[in-house]
Amino acid sequence: MSEMRAMRLHAPNQPLRLERVPRPEPGPGEVRVRVLACGVCRTDLHVVDGELDHPRLPLVPGHEIVGEVDALGEGVADLAAGQRVGVPWLGWTCGECAQCQAGRENLCERAEFTGYTRDGGYAEYCVADARYCFPLPAEDAQAAAPLLCAGLIGYRTWRLAGGDEPRRLGIYGFGAAAHILAQLAIARGQTLYAFTRPGDTEAQAFARRLGADWAGGSDEAPPEPLDAALLFAPVGALVPTALAQVRPGGVVVSGGIHMSDIPSFPYGLLWEERSLKSVANLTRRDGEEFLALAPRVPIHTETTAYPLEEANRALDDLREGRLSGAAVLVP
Ligand SMILES: [Zn+2]
Ligand SMILES: [Zn+2]
Repeated sequence: MSEMRAMRLHAPNQPLRLERVPRPEPGPGEVRVRVLACGVCRTDLHVVDGELDHPRLPLVPGHEIVGEVDALGEGVADLAAGQRVGVPWLGWTCGECAQCQAGRENLCERAEFTGYTRDGGYAEYCVADARYCFPLPAEDAQAAAPLLCAGLIGYRTWRLAGGDEPRRLGIYGFGAAAHILAQLAIARGQTLYAFTRPGDTEAQAFARRLGADWAGGSDEAPPEPLDAALLFAPVGALVPTALAQVRPGGVVVSGGIHMSDIPSFPYGLLWEERSLKSVANLTRRDGEEFLALAPRVPIHTETTAYPLEEANRALDDLREGRLSGAAVLVP
């Protein structure tokens, strides 16, 4: 049996280990994908750091996969060998539960997730359900990788905040998702206010370079009240902070899968019909819409490449906030 190199997690809070493991075989309805690039997402950090319960172990993390279909399992008709695809976080849904039946497959009761409950893309090959692979143009794989989660989840967050309807849009946490969403928002004529860690002038300059009207620390007030705020930093204290900057009737949407506890806050911050919601996962429709939209904006991603075996360094750089844009592993 052929082998491959993979970076695997054996227990939370331990570094990933570079290992030689058997190349996975696609089952019925699945494809094997030769990984060309895999983005490093904050969710990977939450898995590795033990902040998300019950990952598959040992686990190959990674859910921003761009690759080439390498082998087809039984019954796969919509994809062909050699085809370029993207594999996202949502890896499988049941199609039968009440959420699936209601068109909310992102909330499927039995959903499986790439790089969490299924092996992901920190490897030379991975296996994916063909129905959850997005066909991609055969262009720069490294540049496309962050679109698969930072882009998709960011898009859903933006959509749940009203899409291009809010005129004044705030983004808290200016990392991978924000730098993609900023380009979409600006192309749609929205005025963008970027909030970073206080004192992070580098991230603020990055946001201004992308076209933000204003950039400052999360402890600062924007020049005008916000119609909507998107939260991409995993910091619960930002919830009341953002609510305080949103006008009556405005909305705050949190895009992260994990957040530190939200401190108590006066009802007055929520009153006047402000609303607060979270985004969970994605639907295939989000993926199809966003991936069609991205080249039309066009969205350019800023990435830093790491060899596969340096996944731990990429995770450390993300954890310590040493990145602008997105880290991408290139096997
Ligand atoms: Zn379901
Ligand atoms: Zn992600």
